[in-house]
Amino acid sequence: MVRLILFGPPGAGKGTQAEALSKQLQVPHISTGDIFRSAIAAQSELGLKVQAYLDQGTLVPDSVVIDMVQERLSQSDIAAGWILDGFPRTVPQAQALDELLAKIKQDYTLVLNLQVSESVLVQRLLGRQRKDDTEEVIQQRLRVYRDETSPLLAFYDLSTRLVTIDGAAEVEIVNARIQEAITAC
Ligand code: ADP
Repeated sequence: MVRLILFGPPGAGKGTQAEALSKQLQVPHISTGDIFRSAIAAQSELGLKVQAYLDQGTLVPDSVVIDMVQERLSQSDIAAGWILDGFPRTVPQAQALDELLAKIKQDYTLVLNLQVSESVLVQRLLGRQRKDDTEEVIQQRLRVYRDETSPLLAFYDLSTRLVTIDGAAEVEIVNARIQEAITAC
């Protein structure tokens, strides 16, 4: 049973790795960013609520994200395990996740921190074609990561289940290192 939290700045490769691991380990990939983008495309109530945040590169309010993750983790497919990608992103979200997992009597296996320098991140993000990958929004997302998300590393550092991996390496190498970390724990 594998339950992973993929952590790292925008452009670190969380989505790419989560997708590969989801197939390899046969567990659902839960990406809060993907869920928001689908909701926006469908113009659902959630989509309308979060669109401006995604467009500006700011964080969706904790309560909205936490409710959505709670809902997702109440579905039956997560009995097989899960990979969280893009959540938690703030200390209150991490605390809410701890409470949520305690309630459903689950625990995470590992927090995988994908580390990549800012210059490489900007290069990668500028090379993508996503709507929120303009120079200005990228700078905003990196700022949000520095100010609001990176403090979470100290939160998880208190546990022995935080593993930092060089995310600048090739996709297959990063994948292999993640697999090693899972096997070793
Ligand atoms: P990236 O990691 O490349 O920035 P994501 O797809 O994870 O991309 O997130 C895109 C956007 O979705 C974020 O900029 C933010 O507006 C919103 N978002 C995703 N996850 C969260 C979260 N856990 N808390 C708040 N906002 C979030």
